Amino acid sequence: MSKGIELDCDVLVVGAGPAGIAACVSAAESGARVILIDDNPKPGGQIWRASIQYPANPKSHVNDAASWLRRLQACSARQLLSTRAVACLSEKCVLAENENGSIEIAFRHAILATGARELLLPFPGWTLPNVFAPGGLQALVKSGLPVHGKRVLVAGTGPLLLAVAAFLKSKGARIEGIYDQASWRRIIPFAMTLIKRPTLLVSALVYRASLFSSPLRYGWWPVSASGEDALRLVTLTNGIQTKTIACDMLACGFHLIPNTELQSAFACKLVEGKALVDEWQKTSVNGVFSVGESAGVGGLDLALIEGQIAGFAATGKEASARPLFPKRDALRKIAAAMDRAFAPRPELRDLVQKDTIVCRCEDVPWGKLRQHHSMRHARIYTRCGMGPCQGRVCGAALNFLTGWESGAKRPPIYPVQLSTLIREPQATPKEKP
Ligand SMILES: Cc1cc2nc3c(=O)[nH]c(=O)nc-3n(C[C@H](O)[C@H](O)[C@H](O)COP(=O)(O)OP(=O)(O)OC[C@H]3O[C@@H](n4cnc5c(N)ncnc54)[C@H](O)[C@@H]3O)c2cc1C
Repeated sequence: MSKGIELDCDVLVVGAGPAGIAACVSAAESGARVILIDDNPKPGGQIWRASIQYPANPKSHVNDAASWLRRLQACSARQLLSTRAVACLSEKCVLAENENGSIEIAFRHAILATGARELLLPFPGWTLPNVFAPGGLQALVKSGLPVHGKRVLVAGTGPLLLAVAAFLKSKGARIEGIYDQASWRRIIPFAMTLIKRPTLLVSALVYRASLFSSPLRYGWWPVSASGEDALRLVTLTNGIQTKTIACDMLACGFHLIPNTELQSAFACKLVEGKALVDEWQKTSVNGVFSVGESAGVGGLDLALIEGQIAGFAATGKEASARPLFPKRDALRKIAAAMDRAFAPRPELRDLVQKDTIVCRCEDVPWGKLRQHHSMRHARIYTRCGMGPCQGRVCGAALNFLTGWESGAKRPPIYPVQLSTLIREPQATPKEKP
């Protein structure tokens, strides 16, 4: 049996995105022994990790990132990168692993800053080569995928569409159009809430200005993607008209959903797919906090504020956290307006056909799923959700299509090395950070 490493700390932060960095820095600067883990080789999360060169509002974004990353490097926290939390061993101990093996981390407080992922909804042709999730395509381009001269169509819903389209255009892509399923009737009230946060409105306008030559349409959604060996055409509708557009790539995603697998492993209460938290960002489990997108999708500024509140609260510095409440509450109002604006419309449920793949890990089509009455039943009979992504993609899609809940997740929450599964359990932590 393998013997993993054992560590202990006052505060364990899982996730080194903006929320996790803010939590880590606030807790470490308050004098706590902090461990920060992230499954990527660099800190920064979705927005700061790979590139801080393409901000909507260059000054504030780059300065924010640079200043938080500098504070992170200067603080006393121990960073374990390329390290993933895979299970919860008790209310006060997490099992993590990296290429060197397993690590048990005992803590007094845990701050879970696990971010969000894109919601992908199935429609005929969505599994064709060159159909991507918008953030996924952005990440691939940041790591070297060339898009220069490619005709890219951006569709789905959410503020990410404009950001990704602007980014792809800056890399030489020809943006054939941005088609958001949200209607103007929903977009206008959302835009009104942004008047109170002019920086966000300015960001949106800067993105739009950079895409002046590409059509931006609201109330349109993809019906199908087609092509023999790879994507060639995308058909869209607004419910009355349809149009078909030739393109080389389709970036299509339906806003973001919180990553709550670790919160579920701790048995934290979830409400509407996000961790339920109190004013201090505490979950329903004693000593466990949830911050950033995992506690509700709300963008960078909200993630930073929530991270600081939890970092201070976990180290007994409530007085430093309290002044941040009003800004958080204002940002949460915008987040709620964003959720309402970009909620997927019911018509998207009618796109799946009998042979449309819903679980792409296990190749399970809609025709085989619709005869079941629950996720558990479907999983048992079709293996849906039992592939490498562990239902992260199809679980959310089926929740939208059928209302099925994913149900309790068994540990580990990610596929792990055999040595992690057969590790010898440790009684008491020995090595200090
Ligand atoms: C795909 C994608 C692209 C985006 N692109 C943009 C953009 O271009 N512009 C913009 O303004 N906003 C963008 N956003 C939104 C932006 O990322 C968020 O507003 C902000 O970064 C939220 O910060 P966070 O710390 O909550 O989460 P994140 O930045 O997502 O950080 C979460 C971190 O936790 C890590 N993690 C999760 N689970 C574990 C685990 N079990 N063990 C170890 N580590 C773990 C993740 O790898 C990640 O590094 C994007 C979001 C997504 C999902």
